[in-house]
Amino acid sequence: MSQEKLATIAAQQGICTDGNHGAVVPPLYLSTNYTFEEFGKKREYDYSRSGNPTRATLADTLAQLEGGAGAVVTATGMAAATLCTALLSPQDLLVVPHDCYGGCYRLFTSLAKKGSFQLEVVDQNNEKALDEILARKPKMIWLETPSNPLLRLVDIEAISKKAHAHGTLVVADNTFLSPVLQRPLELGADIVIHSTTKYVNGHSDVVAGAVIAKTPELAEELAWWANCLGITGAPFDAYLTLRGLRTLPLRMKQHQLNAEAAVELLKDHPVVEKVHYPGLENHPQHELAKRQQKGFGAMLSFELKGGVESVKAFLSRLRYFALAESLGGVESLVAHPATMTHASMTEEARREAGISETLIRISVGVEDPEDLVADLSQALAYAAQSTFSAIKGQYSGQQGLNDTEKLRAFG
Ligand SMILES: *Cc1c(COP(=O)(O)O)cnc(C)c1O
Repeated sequence: MSQEKLATIAAQQGICTDGNHGAVVPPLYLSTNYTFEEFGKKREYDYSRSGNPTRATLADTLAQLEGGAGAVVTATGMAAATLCTALLSPQDLLVVPHDCYGGCYRLFTSLAKKGSFQLEVVDQNNEKALDEILARKPKMIWLETPSNPLLRLVDIEAISKKAHAHGTLVVADNTFLSPVLQRPLELGADIVIHSTTKYVNGHSDVVAGAVIAKTPELAEELAWWANCLGITGAPFDAYLTLRGLRTLPLRMKQHQLNAEAAVELLKDHPVVEKVHYPGLENHPQHELAKRQQKGFGAMLSFELKGGVESVKAFLSRLRYFALAESLGGVESLVAHPATMTHASMTEEARREAGISETLIRISVGVEDPEDLVADLSQALAYAAQSTFSAIKGQYSGQQGLNDTEKLRAFG
């Protein structure tokens, strides 16, 4: 499906469908219940937990954008993950990536501990380990690509092919890219989930989620469980999310342009040790990113030279990057995974996962790229300067070097 088509679906879905008053924008239905037409004759909707017109418009739009047969809009992204686990029985095996979203990791390990299903955690890029586990015919494999915060990728098409040979359902968490930049169902996945809190809503004012299914049968089963568990989303949230979704294709264009501008500054900067971004040729899965994604996204992370002092100095000077968790909003954000998003991991687990204390993650917003680059640039310069004064003693023997050379010598 072309990107233009996606923009049309996002802007047009549900427009001019109001039969009562000819409202251009589909109305928000807050009513919890709906009358029966007459004795024994139910209308399309009866009770809002089971079905709601506003939520249905959002679900239809997401299903079309992802190329699915149907979608369920859930109260949170975690509710979307919970809904998928409802498809599992105690003897079923679920396979999840070692670096999946922390909340999902907690959900899977906690439910497995209670005996809700069997669980295997694996590095899905370790082909041998993955093949061994798939040979055990898992009921479901969970993918998340790119991963947080190091932007590692897995090959959705290749894993789906292998999984299907063993009768395994493939679920892909598409939160980091949105259907504008990656459509896992077209690559073989059976189910896509979103924390719509992030790019889909895109304005950092709604926590919500969605599950999109490839087949009508799966969509129906998921809708049944969502109603049964009571985890469907609120109509008001769906209304706001639909409003945000209208501009998703437009936003993603600017997000990406800005991310490219930020990467351009960071990649050769003397105070930056390493940049993690799938768009860089030295990213280990750059070729896969080019093949699998329609763009490289607007999430990136990088390591600063000069230790935690350098990180503190950098963060203290930023004007347009708010120090906050979450991502995907129009406003730029910066996070320090070791003390924020990944603080609940042990130090050793973080080291194993490659999350150092100098790692910084940014969610690049849609502001003017020159402003963002200038902001990053002055904060990096300040970090470099304060690092110098903190380690002055180490440089006594290197008087002849200019600033850039000193930094290289230090790094
Ligand atoms: C935020 C997030 C979730 C959880 O979603 P909530 O809306 O916070 O419940 C799941 N997966 C990924 C990749 C996320 O970033």
